Amino acid sequence: MLGRKRPSLAIVCALLLSSSLNAEVKVLKNFTLIDGTGRPPVAESAMIVNDGRITWIGRTAVLKAPAGAETADLTGKFVMPGIINLHGHIGNTVDLTQDGKFYTRKSIEENLHSMFAYGQTPLFINDPFFTRSVSQTTLQLLSNPERQKTNAAVPHFKEFPGFLETAKKNLKKLADAGVKYGFGTDTGPPGRFPGYAEHWELELMVDAGLTPVQALTAATRSGAEFLGAKDLGTLEVSRWADLIVLNANPLTNIKNSRSIHAVYIAGNLVK
Ligand SMILES: [Zn+2]
Repeated sequence: MLGRKRPSLAIVCALLLSSSLNAEVKVLKNFTLIDGTGRPPVAESAMIVNDGRITWIGRTAVLKAPAGAETADLTGKFVMPGIINLHGHIGNTVDLTQDGKFYTRKSIEENLHSMFAYGQTPLFINDPFFTRSVSQTTLQLLSNPERQKTNAAVPHFKEFPGFLETAKKNLKKLADAGVKYGFGTDTGPPGRFPGYAEHWELELMVDAGLTPVQALTAATRSGAEFLGAKDLGTLEVSRWADLIVLNANPLTNIKNSRSIHAVYIAGNLVK
């Protein structure tokens, strides 16, 4: 994306990590583990988190929970690593307007909760997973016929759906050929809503022909590898406890990545 450089989402997440450490010991148990390495899921898993990092991970049956540890029973839940978006712009867009003057802590935090405006009312406008993170002003703008007319007047507008199909074919061809690929949604500028778009991109990767495991691995382990971040991306001993707890299995339907029950960053419950 052209334009002034802004800190990437990954850097902001790293800052959040470094400021949210605590010395509490936490135990998560009875969940199905999708560890981000590409390995098959493991039922009845547990982990111990100390100072924000995973210090033990294995089967609940052999868990030795430290005395006094705060314990979350996640029976029926699925746990995957936090998503790493390798390309995003946050903090300088409010509603559907981008301006450097918006770049404040408040707008960064709000953006961390924030999608694609087309020349028509987007299908997702009634999707509760979308509407819970955007302002009423944004929803009104997305439905505004004048704005849609302006968007539809953009050169090559009618070719956009074709571009997407080409991109999907390219991704599948590159993946099949063994080319390493990551995950970067370019969210943040007007109409590219952080949060919603990442889950949509996972779905598009599966539409393109990747398996859900390939899509999730791109967005977790591979992202960390591209960043050279050895302590992120997978749920293994010594890694940061950055994870998403899901109500349904994303490997049977990638859209289940949206069934978010809870999010932990460095062992801290943030949702
Ligand atoms: Zn960009």
